[in-house]
Amino acid sequence: MNQKDIRKLTLTINTMILLLVFALAGFFWYCNATFLLWFSIPTALIYVLGYSLIFRDRLDIYVRVVYLWLTFYMSVTSVCLGYKLGFHLYCLSMIPIIFYTEYMAEKLGKRKINAIAVSCIIVVCYLLSTGYSAYVGPIYTVDNSIAGVFWIFNSLIVLFFLISYSSIMLGMVGGYEKQLTDIAHKDRLTGLYNRHYMMTRLEEAVSDERPLFLAMIDIDNFKLTNDQYGHNAGDYVLTNLSRIMNETCPECDISRWGGEEFLIMSKGDITEQGRPLLEKLRATVEQAEFLFEEQKIPVTITVGIAALRSGQSVDEWIKVADDRLYYGKKNGKNRVVSETAES
Ligand code: GH3
Ligand code: MG
Ligand code: MG
Repeated sequence: MNQKDIRKLTLTINTMILLLVFALAGFFWYCNATFLLWFSIPTALIYVLGYSLIFRDRLDIYVRVVYLWLTFYMSVTSVCLGYKLGFHLYCLSMIPIIFYTEYMAEKLGKRKINAIAVSCIIVVCYLLSTGYSAYVGPIYTVDNSIAGVFWIFNSLIVLFFLISYSSIMLGMVGGYEKQLTDIAHKDRLTGLYNRHYMMTRLEEAVSDERPLFLAMIDIDNFKLTNDQYGHNAGDYVLTNLSRIMNETCPECDISRWGGEEFLIMSKGDITEQGRPLLEKLRATVEQAEFLFEEQKIPVTITVGIAALRSGQSVDEWIKVADDRLYYGKKNGKNRVVSETAES
């Protein structure tokens, strides 16, 4: 959720609260609760002022003013009408919301709200107002059936706020977590796994009983591509090649191993699945049109593949694939090597 979304959400909440204040003013008038009717005027003004704060991006002040006034408002209504109407419930719902707000302020680099201190103020107001109405009784008497309707209405609003805030927050936290995982696991340019994360995947995979193969891929004469067409064209080749690899093998673990080197790991037998798959990839790359700023860039790759042998370490496994890649480079490039005389 970005600044704009937060502003939109705050505007919606402010409008909902303002409408509620007007509706309640009507109810206070109906109950002859004169003090509460007058008290609705500064309350409405606070939320009108809220619009100006939201539009001026002073959400930090808005949040403080609104929370304090809401606490005050709930306490006053509880003292005047008693706790049977459920106005005090709003205080309870505000506590988790205060903590979400503190979290958001920290995320957005805004002035932090002290959630513990604000919660303590809310708790004190809650105890004083409900305690007073429990012991002394409410100032205005409200018919039990009306009180019941209010209890349900206020409970529903409080629960709605709690559920929607919690689901929005959880969605946001999930989104942030995914972003962080992507940053930690993926290469920024290509979106493929980075070397560090691929190493983790390989270490997990070597204990697997199923047949696995590795393919070390290197773009041929890539330095020349950069020299002839420019670095941006080189970057375009890297991203476009990554897309082709993802499309050719959606089930594979594909990583950017180094500058123009890629490491692919997949389940399957090297002869039955590995070699045909990498041959297909090599041919697709050779035939694909790498068009950058109306210039057609010829791209080919050389691939070394290796099956995981039992008892082999990750480093040994990678070395076999790397040696085969090196062999392919020495023997004409644009080829897939799955065995050499030495291995
Ligand atoms: P070979 O066929 O033997 O692999 O030759 P090569 O030119 O591909 O290999 P070499 O190792 O000489 O050059 C690799 C080049 O890859 C050099 C470097 O500038 C380029 N490179 C590495 N990372 C990037 C990158 O992120 N973007 C671009 N555009 N170029 C990169
Ligand atoms: Mg190369
Ligand atoms: Mg290289």
